[in-house]
Amino acid sequence: MKKPREQVEALRGNGRLRKRLNMTTDKQILTSNAAPVRANHTPHATGRHADGKRQRGGGAACGGADGGGSGAALGTNAKLGAVPTKPPYDGMAKRVERFALQSVARSILPKSRTAKCLRIRAFNSDVQVWRSKAHGTASYGGLQTCGSVWACPVCNAKISERRRVELLSAMDMHKAQGGAVYLLTLTTPHQRGDNLAELLEKQGTALKSFLRDFSVKKVFAEMGYIGQVRALEVTHGRKSGQDNGWHPHFHILQFCQVSGREADRKDWQVRLYLRWVAYCEKAGLGTPSYAHGIKLDDGTQAAKYVTKWGLEDEMTKGHSKKAKAGGETPFDLLRAALADDGDMQARALFQEFAQCFKGKRQLSWSNGLKARFNQAEKTDEELAAEQDDRAVLLGLLTVDQWRDVLKLDLRGPLLEIASKGGWEAVQRLLHFVDGARDMPSPDAEFLDALHEVRAMLCAWNP
Ligand SMILES: [Zn+2]
Repeated sequence: MKKPREQVEALRGNGRLRKRLNMTTDKQILTSNAAPVRANHTPHATGRHADGKRQRGGGAACGGADGGGSGAALGTNAKLGAVPTKPPYDGMAKRVERFALQSVARSILPKSRTAKCLRIRAFNSDVQVWRSKAHGTASYGGLQTCGSVWACPVCNAKISERRRVELLSAMDMHKAQGGAVYLLTLTTPHQRGDNLAELLEKQGTALKSFLRDFSVKKVFAEMGYIGQVRALEVTHGRKSGQDNGWHPHFHILQFCQVSGREADRKDWQVRLYLRWVAYCEKAGLGTPSYAHGIKLDDGTQAAKYVTKWGLEDEMTKGHSKKAKAGGETPFDLLRAALADDGDMQARALFQEFAQCFKGKRQLSWSNGLKARFNQAEKTDEELAAEQDDRAVLLGLLTVDQWRDVLKLDLRGPLLEIASKGGWEAVQRLLHFVDGARDMPSPDAEFLDALHEVRAMLCAWNP
């Protein structure tokens, strides 16, 4: 490693190093044509620059829209947090956090696919950095993705955003045809010490029987039932007053032909509640109260109040949002583990959650409903690997450069710099950290300098 302090000064515009940094082949690079060019005139390796439209194949990009906040402990990525800026770059702060949270998930689940996600190259291709034309956000290509909607904050963001758009489009079409939607939420009693796997199994049994029940079907018929989309969600109540443990629950979006009166809604809710109670008791789940066990909301009414958080968000983004006071979503557990290395409970709970939810569907559409609204059947893995056709390739990283980035946990910050400072700024970052791959572990002086460099490069304007 070169002396970090000198490099910081150089970037500030003092000293001879600035000259050296500026002697890079940027001009040649910038005036070069579409073909990627290796810039190897500097004493250190710098990135390759490329320009052109995104091509099919060769990996994936990250994306999505949720998260917020930043932690303090694990790795550089986390330690540094996001450099605060004004819109339109707000999305980058969330993206930086997602990479930091993914690193926490990796440390909890070292053998999972999530541990390799957006780290290992796909088909030995180059690591690509892309920038979205529409949003100005940056993402990677040429890397493997895990496609786990449950365990991976980066894939989750991308998958849930696609699912949200699908659902919103189906709801719009349904409303345009004069249809109504109801949101049915079903929960069961739960307490500290409950085994999550057992709870899920019993709930699954209760739900299956409930949906097959004659009286339930009769209520659905009165609603003019067409089909439903079911979302599975879980929170943990360790921070609530009574610590009532795991709280898995279902949100069911009912596509109906009838927009009932308020009196109808109340009647339906009571009748559904009575059947839900019966099947919960039969499955050994205890007796849910009327106040907590069931909720039937008229989606048409809800849509009249213009809120940013719509039914489609409730169905697809509940898993990643920050839960309300007292409850924590699985990604809140990652946030807790990121903020406090010593929060072993958060780590253990996330591990239990990931094991129990692996292979489960977050969102299930009833038969024929997707076809009715012309929605394609795509798996989570396919959505996670999809690329943004409107993105532009900024440049490529060498294998060694990528190792430097991974070593310092700089995947998020690099994208932030690419988004805000452009490719030239990325090259300067790569130059600064060149050789980190062989460092035992970065010292405090280096990390301080890196922090400064990062802030400067995010505002890079040569
Ligand atoms: Zn992933």
